[in-house]
Amino acid sequence: MLAREVLEELVQVLGRENVLTEQEDLLTYSYDATAAMKHQKPDVVVSPLSTEQVAEVVKIAQRYQVPIYPRGSGTNLSGGTIPVQGGIVLSMLNLNKILEMDQDNLTATVQPGVIIQELNDEAAKHGLIYPPDPGTVTTATMGGSVSECSGGLRGLKYGVTKHYIMGLTIVLANGKIIRWGGKTVKNVTGYDLVALFTGAEGTLGIITEMIVKLIPAPETRKSVLGVFDNLDKAGNAIAAIIRNKVIPATLEIMDKVTIQTVEHFVHAGLPLNAEAVLLCEVDGYKEVVERESVLVERILQEEGAVEVKVAKNDQERDLLWLARRSALPALAQKRPTTVLEDATVPRSKIPDMLKIIRKIADKHNLQIATFGHAGDGNLHPTILTDERDQDEMQRVHLAVDEIFQGAIALGGTLSGEHGIGIAKMGFLGLEFGEAGVEVLKHIKEALDPNYMLNPGKIVRRD
Ligand SMILES: Cc1cc2nc3c(=O)[nH]c(=O)nc-3n(C[C@H](O)[C@H](O)[C@H](O)COP(=O)(O)OP(=O)(O)OC[C@H]3O[C@@H](n4cnc5c(N)ncnc54)[C@H](O)[C@@H]3O)c2cc1C
Repeated sequence: MLAREVLEELVQVLGRENVLTEQEDLLTYSYDATAAMKHQKPDVVVSPLSTEQVAEVVKIAQRYQVPIYPRGSGTNLSGGTIPVQGGIVLSMLNLNKILEMDQDNLTATVQPGVIIQELNDEAAKHGLIYPPDPGTVTTATMGGSVSECSGGLRGLKYGVTKHYIMGLTIVLANGKIIRWGGKTVKNVTGYDLVALFTGAEGTLGIITEMIVKLIPAPETRKSVLGVFDNLDKAGNAIAAIIRNKVIPATLEIMDKVTIQTVEHFVHAGLPLNAEAVLLCEVDGYKEVVERESVLVERILQEEGAVEVKVAKNDQERDLLWLARRSALPALAQKRPTTVLEDATVPRSKIPDMLKIIRKIADKHNLQIATFGHAGDGNLHPTILTDERDQDEMQRVHLAVDEIFQGAIALGGTLSGEHGIGIAKMGFLGLEFGEAGVEVLKHIKEALDPNYMLNPGKIVRRD
């Protein structure tokens, strides 16, 4: 329960209309897109309109020692926005302006509440793109996406969010405002705080403005679907495409459970009896796209695809990608709870990881569908379950542990793009060891000694 003075000071800074305290309102901020997480209502939700207001809110929170949880659209998959200790949810949705499109420097300056697709729509008017495109591109905010360092479908060729963040304005835990980085392509002045705050999940500071890199839109693109009667062959084909020096913009995999579920959901013409499909898109100049798509077709055939289809027009292409983008919502309809993981391995280890996931599913008698950004090694084993079934959930937890252990044993990582939040905190030692986790804590305590910013995420106070 917040002291009355805290609410009064918040209202004074932000106005009554930007301070929510009704229980029904608070309820909607008690969870995010993460499955099987304990919900917790905040005491208040505030929506600042400027960097200065964010700084004022942080100062109030510090004065009264109230935790603050920055929040965009709440689509993260690691429990990152759940206000675990109550306190203030800081909704960034009112800071939603695209402040500048700079065509000479190929940058955009945006506020954190801008939806990623809005930036892309604006960039498209200038023949440019902002490549990071998580599945939630039409709902997720730039602030949330930068704070999670989102990946997405185009990671293989274009990289992830951190490769496009050039400058940040940040409100620190002490209420001071810093600006780091900028529009220069080169910048090695001091420590790289832009990199540090990108992917910090709101635990080190609050991002109120960002300068992002844009790139010229590719001239054209072509999508190729490879159908496999064997999951291993599909896994091997991924490495073969890259080995042949083709770097597709997107190279995705869907296994049998995913294909069948998605097909019933969107009717894209996916083969219902296939064990796996690979969906590949090459983009760039017309001549290059022609050459590369022919090469991809040939490699898929050589690697044992039973069928290879090239999308003949935009309509066919869009349908294929709609199918891929629908994987999670479609799977989510099968059982009440969908536990989505994003353990990631070097791409050469994809066949091994697929085998490990299959073994884990059999061992624990669980239904695990796998799809994901196979070209960058980022698989999404998705456990279809029911959080009310305690026996099954125990098996789910064991399976998740084993998926992480399997990925790390193959030289991979706990998270390719969904971040750590609450969900994966307990596993950090597996990847970094005790000394590594201590480094994370030292950084947290240097910037937020009282654990006020998004507490209970990534690192916990001892
Ligand atoms: C169906 C589905 C598909 C998805 N597909 C992908 C995918 O392909 N790739 C991928 O990477 N992710 C994916 N995600 C995860 C998620 O959509 C992304 O991480 C997204 O970028 C989060 O944006 P958001 O606005 O919802 O952030 P939120 O969920 O609101 O916040 C995310 C984190 O950022 C912090 N935060 C938010 N705003 C700020 C700020 N201004 N300053 C500091 N910290 C802040 C929050 O405290 C939290 O820790 C998917 C999620 C769903 C539900």
